[in-house]
Amino acid sequence: MIQQASLKLRCQEDNHIEEIDFICYHEFCTGFRLNCFDCFKKGIHHTHSDDVKKVNSLIPFIESNNKECDNLIDDLNKCVETLNQSFSQLTKGIRNKYSLVKERLVNMNSYQINDYLNSTIKLMEYKQSISKIIEEQIKKLNHAFNNLYEQLQLSSFNYYLIDDNNIERAEDLCNQGKKLYLDLNYNEALTYFDKSIVINTSNQESLCYKGNCLMMLNKYEDAITWFDKALAIDPNYVISLSNKGRFHHPYINRLMFNDVKQIQGCNHFVGQSISY
Ligand SMILES: [Zn+2]
Ligand SMILES: [Zn+2]
Repeated sequence: MIQQASLKLRCQEDNHIEEIDFICYHEFCTGFRLNCFDCFKKGIHHTHSDDVKKVNSLIPFIESNNKECDNLIDDLNKCVETLNQSFSQLTKGIRNKYSLVKERLVNMNSYQINDYLNSTIKLMEYKQSISKIIEEQIKKLNHAFNNLYEQLQLSSFNYYLIDDNNIERAEDLCNQGKKLYLDLNYNEALTYFDKSIVINTSNQESLCYKGNCLMMLNKYEDAITWFDKALAIDPNYVISLSNKGRFHHPYINRLMFNDVKQIQGCNHFVGQSISY
């Protein structure tokens, strides 16, 4: 839950001394959405006053919006997951049909070998069109991803302006949290990681250790959310990757199986980092 108590916002108008009292949620509002009582009296939002709510509606709004955002990402992940499943079915099928283990040749009769030759020789003909179909579809999909990235203006976004001091403070808090984590004091460690994340949402170590704490407290679903946040900053961040592999999480399990060597390296690295 996001803390309600700390929310005190001053009106941006110079001569207004009141705090922000109302928020406009109207979809097409072009005015400033945060208003003190004096601002509100000017009537900017009067045509859609049903969508103007008291300021304490902001936290529930953010919480429900965050949930919506998580749901959207889950749905998108599921889409890509089905794509991966049908793709691996295709490649497995190709391997089963067209790639013959030499040693099995002795167990096959001449009809079977004849069938094998028939289909394999035809594969040469199909090969180019198979690659072409897949390449074209992937190109389209990539194009769609890039377009959406542009349209939603995801690259130019940064709500949280952080300075060097805050980066350092977030690191300090993270280190304090890590000490508590190593003392197996997960609940208290969590409060430090939370504080660190509030100051610097990009502190990957705090995000990851928060996931670790939640995992140790058997809150696996929540843990995955925080590992995901760490992964979103740097997908190669090995600690989160490795820890996540301990779950039956299809997305990450696939990542793990894709590169067993990397994972072995990760486990080694985790071992080192935990005993810091
Ligand atoms: Zn005002
Ligand atoms: Zn409005």
